[in-house]
Amino acid sequence: MGTPKVMEKFAVGVDFGGTKISAGVVNLESGRLVGTAKKKTRQVQEQDDVIRRIITVVDDAINESGVDMRKIAGIGIGAAGMVNREKGILLAAVNIGANDVPLAEPLSRHYGLPCKLGNDVEVATIGEMAFGAGRDCKNFVCIFVGTGIGSGIVQNGTLVRGATGTAGEVGHITLYPDGKLCGCGAYGCLEAYASRTAVAKDILADLQRGHDSVIREKVDMTKGILRSKAIAQAVASGDEMVTGAVEQAARCMATGLVTVINFLNPQRIILGGGLVEAVNLYFDTAELYARRRCLKIPGRKIEIVRAELGDYAGIVGAAMLSRNGASK
Ligand SMILES: [Zn+2]
Repeated sequence: MGTPKVMEKFAVGVDFGGTKISAGVVNLESGRLVGTAKKKTRQVQEQDDVIRRIITVVDDAINESGVDMRKIAGIGIGAAGMVNREKGILLAAVNIGANDVPLAEPLSRHYGLPCKLGNDVEVATIGEMAFGAGRDCKNFVCIFVGTGIGSGIVQNGTLVRGATGTAGEVGHITLYPDGKLCGCGAYGCLEAYASRTAVAKDILADLQRGHDSVIREKVDMTKGILRSKAIAQAVASGDEMVTGAVEQAARCMATGLVTVINFLNPQRIILGGGLVEAVNLYFDTAELYARRRCLKIPGRKIEIVRAELGDYAGIVGAAMLSRNGASK
């Protein structure tokens, strides 16, 4: 008999977002996803309803993976919104209409497995650190551009959380002291200029003023919704109005990157999120201007790259969170 084969270990990662709940079973050694499932997040009133929906998605993912429950070591959840990591409670998630929802404890009880909770940006950063664009790097910052802008800071291979666990709120760096009102209540934040929401607002305002653009037919004017894909298609077709809006937002993002580079001197910045993934022009413009404007010495070393895990960063990162106890 040879050496006994090491038993493969798996964990379940749950990405609890504003529009959907997705879950997957992840091989903890390779980061490979072996089964996934998802369900729409709808506005929930009852706490039990949230847990029930998560359990359905987790069950579906485990069934699809075909992995024996005994091989599953734990469950990790990444949730959009503020979380209490120690207690495993989702404190405020405006987009799903819920507050103070205990998530980790009821799931842990249901499955008889350890369960950890983190926020979506933190778990996506853990995912990139373990198996994505940060896997060979000890000092980097992940910046995710979507409805807002969030970041995760990794120093010496560890996630930096700050005194109150809120480090990395790069979206609320002030660009213009008397600028646009931000969702946080302050004025002129990066997020109000460089997020997908900001780009969409700009485009919608231009359309309302009567400007011509191919994107007009892709917009739901009543809801003001504009997807990254539609923005990408308009840029690809050479639409001037949309291209201008993207460039302007990306130049603002570059200013945020310059702040991060000069202040923190990271080895690498990893840019991710729907807008970055869909629209090359955004990434290219942000990188170009960041390199042009940052201090020479930190700028010489800085690598600016794209996130690698895409849509699955949240699931893979959440699964890793369950393992390494990073939620402490
Ligand atoms: Zn703000």
